[in-house]
Amino acid sequence: MDNAVRLIEADARRSADTHLLRYPLPSRWAGDVDVALYLKDETTHITGSLKHRLARSLFLYSLCNGWIGEDTTVIEASSGSTAVSEAYFAAMLGLPFIAVMPASTSAAKIALIESQGGRCHFVSESAEVYAEAQRLAEQTNGHYLDQFTNAERATDWRGNNNIAESIFQQLGEETHPVPEWIVVGAGTGGTSATIGRYIRYRRYPTRLCVVDPENSAFFPSYEQGADVVTGASSRIEGIGRPRVEPSFVPGVVDRMISVPDSGSVAVAHHVGRVLGRRVGPSTGTNMWGAFKLLAEMIENGCSGSVVTLLADSGDRYDDTYFCDEWLTSHGMEPSESAASLAEFERSGRWS
Ligand SMILES: *Cc1c(COP(=O)(O)O)cnc(C)c1O
Repeated sequence: MDNAVRLIEADARRSADTHLLRYPLPSRWAGDVDVALYLKDETTHITGSLKHRLARSLFLYSLCNGWIGEDTTVIEASSGSTAVSEAYFAAMLGLPFIAVMPASTSAAKIALIESQGGRCHFVSESAEVYAEAQRLAEQTNGHYLDQFTNAERATDWRGNNNIAESIFQQLGEETHPVPEWIVVGAGTGGTSATIGRYIRYRRYPTRLCVVDPENSAFFPSYEQGADVVTGASSRIEGIGRPRVEPSFVPGVVDRMISVPDSGSVAVAHHVGRVLGRRVGPSTGTNMWGAFKLLAEMIENGCSGSVVTLLADSGDRYDDTYFCDEWLTSHGMEPSESAASLAEFERSGRWS
């Protein structure tokens, strides 16, 4: 156990923090309102997404709880990115790893898990992953990490260089160092829980907005104040769930915005062109929300900053979100949002 914790801490110590990029907004809006948009670039983690933070926290939490021993099989229910990061830590500790994933998971993610010695076990619907992971854990006498339950509790929400503390520190010398809004999506809900709690703990006036894709249970449940189960798979990888996950903490969320899937993809394509590199679809969802909030600030004459996340790179989605045939066959039509995006670029208005 001692050595396992040391290996994880040593890996963290050798790693640098992720960048906070300033997103280039059209300068011709410049009038009375001064707004800025920042992107916390979580793609630069060794395993390519913000799930690197979660995987590290889950392994440390499980080790320190005595749930993982020297040859425990480690199991996770995942839509892909978490398993990629967990396979990395399992390999580092020399532990067998099994990822239970929907059959729709991208080939690139499967290859990344397998290249690190992880095994992939598929189910047909994303709602089946939990019970199957539990069953495998019992069968192998292994440990089910259970990101959807443990994400919010395994993360140090008061600081310890968590994502929230890092964002506020990196904004320190900016014109608007305390953002009006931080915008994130929810998969486990862990990132929004950590940021929302940190904002309250540090007594910042910043508000937290969670953006949610079609088919997800988070948005309707938040609106209705009751647990809604959609049972349907999200089409935006990494975010949106068929049920409200235990790690989602609605009490720290100030606002939720439901984002159409075609819009998420359109904005991801657009942001990729602006930045000169592809971003994943959940980053499109984040940026849709950020654009909408910026447009409201401009309309209300409110200067300030907005922060959101570049959650993962688009390179994992060559044959899905960056393939026209795949988009059409999945009922997504990004070109429908072209007019809204052009209008936002031109005028700072968002419809
Ligand atoms: C997991 C994930 C999210 C959401 O983060 P949570 O902390 O699990 O809510 C967003 N985007 C991508 C690409 C993800 O993998």
